[in-house]
Amino acid sequence: MMIFSPKISFVIPVYNEEEVFDLLIKRLDALMSKIESPCEVVLIDDGSIDNTPVLMENIATKHHNYQAIFLTRNFGHQRALSAGLEHARGEVIMILDGDLQDPPELFFEFYEHIKKGYDVAYGVRKERKESAIKRASYNAFYRILNKISNYPIPKDSGDFGMITRRVMDNMNKMREESRFLRGIRSWVGYRQIGVPYERKERAAGVPKYSFKMLFKLAYDGIFNFSVFPIKVLTYLGVLCISVSIIYFILTLVKRLFYDSVPSGFTALLFMILLFGGVQLLSIGIIGEYVQRIFFQVKNRPLYLISKKIINGNKTLD
Ligand code: UDP
Ligand code: MG
Repeated sequence: MMIFSPKISFVIPVYNEEEVFDLLIKRLDALMSKIESPCEVVLIDDGSIDNTPVLMENIATKHHNYQAIFLTRNFGHQRALSAGLEHARGEVIMILDGDLQDPPELFFEFYEHIKKGYDVAYGVRKERKESAIKRASYNAFYRILNKISNYPIPKDSGDFGMITRRVMDNMNKMREESRFLRGIRSWVGYRQIGVPYERKERAAGVPKYSFKMLFKLAYDGIFNFSVFPIKVLTYLGVLCISVSIIYFILTLVKRLFYDSVPSGFTALLFMILLFGGVQLLSIGIIGEYVQRIFFQVKNRPLYLISKKIINGNKTLD
């Protein structure tokens, strides 16, 4: 049997995407017919409960340039993507969402940069066609993250983009359990370039990322790539101590020289509440890091695979 060795891999995690699936395959087939090098598509089913797995199975058994990887349950987009990056066989890897919000046709523009010697070409969203709240939260998040991160993380860029094999191999080496792949990609280094593009609306179906999941992603971005929150605690602590020392001196002066009655209950209550709050918040923030250490130390696999279809052959894991 001839082993198919692709030069270009498209890695696409899908979760309950039956509505958009056929359209996705059409767009990919049309695109791949225009690319001269051999291509493969790595589809990762993130535990879909609709018809997506059946559609994936059909395409991967018929067309051997499609790999289908099935996770045992829903592990979340970032881990599904990680699974895909461990199965891609190409020299150049393009990562995109399954809902066609990221135009696959941007391939050519990304590829030009890779040919020029860049190792990462990532999409930068020019404008978002999403709800105002979502847009505002995204904007705020990326501005904040960019300011406080220990490493530069490009603004308004998601996972959509193209990477070379060596970048992918390095990303795969990073086994951190709470994954923020765009941060990991940026951490890897090499020459990276942003490519502006217009983020479309989802071609069909509803968003699979809930607000809760987006918050988790945002948390992972901040707590995995920044120690700023801990630093803020230290500053806050110093501030509190300074304020209380000044307050103490003032009261002492008042007591010794003016013998006026120290201000009473209100100030006291205010102080207790304020510092109680500061302490609880501090413990919570430290807890964020401790929780991450806790899960990392367990060293569990990032995902489990139930079934794979590679070169049309089915293997059960
Ligand atoms: N996705 C996934 N697992 C999940 C949630 C989403 O694999 O638990 C996939 C989804 O099928 C899509 C991509 O991740 O291909 C982006 O999801 P979505 O479009 O819902 O996110 P948004 O574009 O709203 O950020
Ligand atoms: Mg989407």
